[in-house]
Amino acid sequence: MKQKFDHPDTAVLHYGRDPDKYHGVVNPPIMRGSTILFPTMQALCVAEQKWHSQPYYGRYGTPPTFAFEQAIADLEGGYRAVAVSSGVAAVTSALSAFVSSGDHILMVDTVYGPTRKFCDAFLKRFGVETTYYAPGVGAGIAELIRENTKVVYLEAPGSLTFEMQDVPAIAAAAKARGVTVMMDNTWATPIGFSPFKHGVDVSIHAGTKYIVGHSDALLGVIVTNEDAFMPVRQATALYGHHVAPDDIYLAQRGLRTMAIRLERHAGNALVLCEWLKQQPEVTRVLNPALPDDPGHALWQRDFRGSCGLFGFVLRPEIGGREVTALVESLKLFGLGFSWGGYESLVLPVDLSTVRSATQWTEGPVIRLHAGLENPADLLADLERGFSVMRAAG
Ligand SMILES: *Cc1c(COP(=O)(O)O)cnc(C)c1O
Repeated sequence: MKQKFDHPDTAVLHYGRDPDKYHGVVNPPIMRGSTILFPTMQALCVAEQKWHSQPYYGRYGTPPTFAFEQAIADLEGGYRAVAVSSGVAAVTSALSAFVSSGDHILMVDTVYGPTRKFCDAFLKRFGVETTYYAPGVGAGIAELIRENTKVVYLEAPGSLTFEMQDVPAIAAAAKARGVTVMMDNTWATPIGFSPFKHGVDVSIHAGTKYIVGHSDALLGVIVTNEDAFMPVRQATALYGHHVAPDDIYLAQRGLRTMAIRLERHAGNALVLCEWLKQQPEVTRVLNPALPDDPGHALWQRDFRGSCGLFGFVLRPEIGGREVTALVESLKLFGLGFSWGGYESLVLPVDLSTVRSATQWTEGPVIRLHAGLENPADLLADLERGFSVMRAAG
């Protein structure tokens, strides 16, 4: 990094760019390559030693890949980063880097669904046991740590229901026992939360979401502290993870506008949250950036920002027919998976198979992603949707 910037909105513009290196062209180019040629045997041997830090073979990245990885690491305050082909690839390869047969993982109950599936359906077959803990465990995590616990895994706020976690308390307890602390920081992005300042060793991002930001590429990033880098780099290399040059380009281009996009996403989300709170069908809005959210105090203490993704809970008597009427009547909120693009999205969520240490006892949950539209248009769309839902009841 040539220069360090404290303000993330400045940092996202400058990290990972070096126009001098590319004849003054502003953005790092798309650089395709499998074979890297070496002028001498000695140069080949040096590159072989430093395969993780300089061009050696295309699978391990080309200069724009290294630049993008370092930009994310610097933005988040980590040591280095590895880009992989999706958020799930980041989760699964990072976990694999730290566990062996006979080991134990402590996993937050509100984790992203496929992360749970990987532990229960895959790691289990390799003799790795996973215990799920309630997101509010705090320092009480100490009582759950066993002799063979290798990873404590966090995600805050949690997927679908947005519960906060006391990251420093959990990380301190894990550290005291020599356990690696891993966190999925996709919701906050490196701008909204600094995991390394709060004791996290490995931070995971579905770059697919706000980093790419335009719903046109999949990508994951694993940021590590110094000790965790080589285990992660080795695991991702041996799994053969690689990001296509075009997708690296899209990710680094998305990064440039991430700070300003997040501001609008988060602001729009708060406008929608306030409206939703007033609706008689809504029992609760799930967003730690709201002052009356149970996680707000932790969010305010540790986080710098929020984003466009949140949920709301409907009265328990509201059924599937009314929920379908609502989501199908919305015009600006598309029905679909993923989030973090410029567009608004809606998704009814099924919590019946994704909780085991805790239970969801409230009504149906709908997840919204507030896009970059004018908030008045989004409100008008929701108003129309709610009146269609009422008519269907
Ligand atoms: C979307 C998501 C992922 C997975 O990302 P993909 O790029 O879709 O594989 C992982 N974690 C969280 C929290 C996510 O929201």
